[in-house]
Amino acid sequence: MTKNNNLEIYIHIPFCKRKCRYCDFLSFACSENVQKRYMDALKKEISAKSIKYESYVVTSVFIGGGTPSIVDPFWIKELMELVFDKFTISETAEITMEMNPGTVTKESLGLYKDAGINRLSMGLQSANDRELALLGRIHSFQEFLSAYASARSVGFFNINVDLMSALPRQSVESYMDTLDKVLNLSPPPEHISAYSLIVEEGTPFYVAYEKGELELPSEEDERLMYEKTEEILKLHGYRRYEISNYAKEGYECRHNVGYWVRENYAGFGLGAASMIENQRFSGETDLKKYLENPLAEREAEVLSLEEQMEEFMFLGLRLIKGVEEAVFKETFGKSIDDVYGEVLQKHCKEGLLIRERGRVFLSTRGLDVSNYVMADFILS
Ligand code: SF4
Repeated sequence: MTKNNNLEIYIHIPFCKRKCRYCDFLSFACSENVQKRYMDALKKEISAKSIKYESYVVTSVFIGGGTPSIVDPFWIKELMELVFDKFTISETAEITMEMNPGTVTKESLGLYKDAGINRLSMGLQSANDRELALLGRIHSFQEFLSAYASARSVGFFNINVDLMSALPRQSVESYMDTLDKVLNLSPPPEHISAYSLIVEEGTPFYVAYEKGELELPSEEDERLMYEKTEEILKLHGYRRYEISNYAKEGYECRHNVGYWVRENYAGFGLGAASMIENQRFSGETDLKKYLENPLAEREAEVLSLEEQMEEFMFLGLRLIKGVEEAVFKETFGKSIDDVYGEVLQKHCKEGLLIRERGRVFLSTRGLDVSNYVMADFILS
């Protein structure tokens, strides 16, 4: 049930200098030798599997991690040459790379630019060095400032900055100070992702939390940080377009929006999943196995109609504009009321969902309790 032949590409580079204390992503420290072997395996995988995507036009590429900027920048250049060679890349494609401010120089940033990368996503998290150290980040705020200035000077005009709130021992004042410093960058970033810390199982933070040693802000302060984010960013011309994402007009992350509206995406590299024509392919998560055979066929799971409808609602409702009733009907051949009539009625009555001009979206209150609302869209 594809709407078009657009394709998004995700490329995973799982290496980091060291693990941050809150992180549960598929990432780890590794020798340069293993990094090189991985990049070779990745190129092999992309070359071989690109044939399947001959009829698609790539609208976005996202190199994520891990810390893609940790590997030799020439390897990123080679990787991008291969991507341009093997796929039909739209002239207006958004090509993003994640980077850690502690791992770049003006020269490496220049190489990324020359390689065709046109958007950077910088993991800052906090402008407070004490908070950065507590998180286990490898960079200081000063290093971020210098990386940001270098990125601008080599010609990056589309930059996202990642921020986190509700950090251990973080006060509302300190969070506001971070926001203030980011908004006073010259020029300020085009895009800001602002997430609240989630203490994930299996992380050092989780262990500390279990022992009662993680001094998290009170619920009241956490709430205040959350509310202040939207209020202050709005005053500075950012529009909230997704639960945790804010952008200046025209700078919404196309790659992520594509994911939320269920475009086809092909993932390459360790643990990278794909979703093509409602078939989900999981990625190999064992590095040794991946290096031995990067071409191994991934397990395919065909999504049932119910699962597709659930995904349509879960992902679409993350967007502030919500989902279009007509698109639901066109995609599934049934009206949204036939499938979700009762749920919609219940949450509209509670003031958590709004139906207006053919769209269904979360109200401000609904955004605060989105998990509660979305749970009701499970059909199976
Ligand atoms: S830099 Fe990012 S991916 Fe790497 S450990 Fe830290 S949070 Fe995780």
